[in-house]
Amino acid sequence: MFGDTIAAISTAWGDGGISIIRISGPDSLSVAGDIVRTAKPTEDLLSRFMYNGSLLDEGGNPIDEVLLVSFRAPKSYTGEDLTEIHCHGGSLVAQRCLERCLQKGCRHAEPGEFTRRAFENGRLDLAQAEAVNGIIHARSNEALKAASRTLRGELSRFVRELYDELLSLSAELEVGIDFPEEDVPYIDDQEGSDRIETMIKGLQDIADRCTTGYLLREGIRVALVGRPNVGKSSLLNSLLKESRAIVTSIPGTTRDVIEEVFTHKGIPLRLMDTAGLRTTPSDEVEAIGIERTAQAMDKSDVVLWILDGSEPIGDFERDMATRISDRPHIVAVNKSDLPSGLDGSLLVSLLPESTILNISAQEQRGLEELKEALVEMVAGTGTLEGGLNATARQLEELRSAIDSLGASKEALEHHHDQTLAAAGLAETRKALERILGLFDDDSLLDTVFSRFCIGK
Ligand code: GDP
Ligand code: ZN
Repeated sequence: MFGDTIAAISTAWGDGGISIIRISGPDSLSVAGDIVRTAKPTEDLLSRFMYNGSLLDEGGNPIDEVLLVSFRAPKSYTGEDLTEIHCHGGSLVAQRCLERCLQKGCRHAEPGEFTRRAFENGRLDLAQAEAVNGIIHARSNEALKAASRTLRGELSRFVRELYDELLSLSAELEVGIDFPEEDVPYIDDQEGSDRIETMIKGLQDIADRCTTGYLLREGIRVALVGRPNVGKSSLLNSLLKESRAIVTSIPGTTRDVIEEVFTHKGIPLRLMDTAGLRTTPSDEVEAIGIERTAQAMDKSDVVLWILDGSEPIGDFERDMATRISDRPHIVAVNKSDLPSGLDGSLLVSLLPESTILNISAQEQRGLEELKEALVEMVAGTGTLEGGLNATARQLEELRSAIDSLGASKEALEHHHDQTLAAAGLAETRKALERILGLFDDDSLLDTVFSRFCIGK
């Protein structure tokens, strides 16, 4: 319990059918009672029943007809007393209702604070809490499924199982370390290493599913580069048209880059076109300069280089080939509907390892293969089924858990050093604890929940 009572508008800003103001904390019901007149006194209202009433202004005059529902602790989203006021869905009425709550002593909730309280009161672990955000920001059915799996506890269950096995193996190793006079270790190195190997495989599987979930959630950033007039804008338009796109921008992207989003196999492909590339049809590369193109490439997961297949390869192409060769990239030779003017074998010799596709933005040819290649470049050829919602932070923890398990296994197999192995297991344990939120680190929690909406 936190002591204070917080309030926020939980529905999206703007005009709509209804708006919901949430109040959580010990005074939530009495605050609601102060500002909403109901037929019965608020303390007599049953938990989880809806009552209608009048939202009143400072002078006791009605502002709106509202519905009021209260959830008594601990059976509420936050795990503490929680009351919701459902008013008509106008920004002003919602704002007035919130103001009334604040006048009665509520504090305006921080972003994600309701979910943070749910976490701190043990209603959700951290993996589940982050999945709530995944549900809110899902842009495809697959992303939604992945978030929902994690919210229902699928990721947490796997991690917990591994965690338990980790604890027992650690304990067994400790016995051997603490009583070395027994001379025979409690478990032998081979058994320890086999059990670690099983854990590594389990974690690897989770990490793969989380990587899928991460891609479903965050998408793949593609930097669209190429000389003016090769057909970048045409390609962008064709791709968007063809996929009947969900074209919403993803928050947190920079302003100087135009981003168009469409999904392929549920994964948002975020095509980044520098502003200049779209607005100035000629001399665009010069105008933006090498600098800007380089920046777009640096921000991307994969570079999509477009060439005009009716034109020969020149200095620009040679230069571009060198610049993209050491990063993930796909080469698309556009205008394949026109007679070829490009020396294909020269292109292959410049980029012998690359995926090179022939496309026609105008005739919508090769676009499926192109999208497939972009996803494959980042997600690999494996299945995209069974994704689990994950953030970059969680993926990092999973990778470090796998690394430290690897070190433990190595310590047993090659150095026969159980003490060193136990140290690796302790590292792994910390990583798993950070996934589930079994730690005391306010600043990490601040960071996690700051990415949430206000009112969630
Ligand atoms: P950008 O400067 O790279 O964005 O190129 P645009 O998309 O503006 O295209 C430049 C010119 O090439 C336009 O006249 C397009 O109609 C034409 N174009 C683009 N894609 C194709 C294609 O696949 N085939 C043909 N024949 N023309 C194309
Ligand atoms: Zn253009």
